Amino acid sequence: MQSQKKHPRVFSFEFFPPKTPEGREKLRATWKQLGQLKPKFFSCTYGAGGSTREGTLETVLEIRTAGFEAAPHLSCVASSRADLKAQLEKYRSHGIRHIVALRGDLPSGLASTGELRYANELVTLIRETAGDWFRIEVACYPEYHPQTRSAADEIRNFKRKVEAGANAAITQYFYNAEAYFRFVDECEAAGIAIPIVPGIMPIGNFAQLARFSDACGAEIPRWLRFRLESYRDDTASIRAYGLDVVTRLCDDLLRAGAPGLHFYTLNQAGLTTTIWQRLGLQAGS
Ligand code: FAD
Repeated sequence: MQSQKKHPRVFSFEFFPPKTPEGREKLRATWKQLGQLKPKFFSCTYGAGGSTREGTLETVLEIRTAGFEAAPHLSCVASSRADLKAQLEKYRSHGIRHIVALRGDLPSGLASTGELRYANELVTLIRETAGDWFRIEVACYPEYHPQTRSAADEIRNFKRKVEAGANAAITQYFYNAEAYFRFVDECEAAGIAIPIVPGIMPIGNFAQLARFSDACGAEIPRWLRFRLESYRDDTASIRAYGLDVVTRLCDDLLRAGAPGLHFYTLNQAGLTTTIWQRLGLQAGS
């Protein structure tokens, strides 16, 4: 963890672009509430092939009008180089200087993979197109990406993104702090020195969490799965236990020197705010 301790802490909150007017209204209330915590930035996800292109940009622009930094995600799967360059130019024309660059996942039924195969190629394209205009965050996986063939591959492929010009990384969520510590040590040994900020998924709904985790390769440890399953439909108990577990996780990570936290808010402020308060973090931490 030595290389991580020297980075300043960065706290950030992630949203997805809402699809309906009600969703937009709800998200507005959410970012306004979370804005009181003065995060370093907000971010908004981007669907494969640009499927949420407008919603991502609109969300980011709206949040920026209130003076906050907001970073759009950009995924390269199912897109052409020309499309990606046009999107980068659009971001740039709005004065956006911060991007989360991803490969994305091909939705079932979509045949074309696009011109870029991996996120390191997107980072290269961004640097070729826009030089140092953008600060670039990339994804990494302490419990391994589902398509990774070996532990060595995971680090090698992450390093490709760093060498292509990524400034920082956000992890897939996890509930086992040891997985993060081990991953960070392996990155350090491989010469990766950028900040690796833990991605944090608050627990509000077990069925949804189990579905996400199966899809993205994040492990729900057996002790946690059993306990959450035992609550069945008792949402209040799931949330209460989840808050204890996730607050403890965040506390362990920060104490060990993690350079901040990135919350997957799922467009809700409640759980993230409670975890923040229980950690005793100040606005603008
Ligand atoms: P990559 O870094 O390209 O890795 C994908 C797989 O390919 C890995 O198994 C890797 O080991 C392997 N690999 C990488 N490079 C090479 C190479 N050169 N040669 C051989 N193998 C290689 N998805 C979205 O669609 N939209 C979003 O907005 C979004 N936001 C996210 C934010 C965060 C913080 C995280 C952690 C994930 C996000 N995702 C998003 C999900 C992400 O797109 C998926 O996890 C996707 O499967 C991988 O994306 P990546 O950028 O990590 O891909």
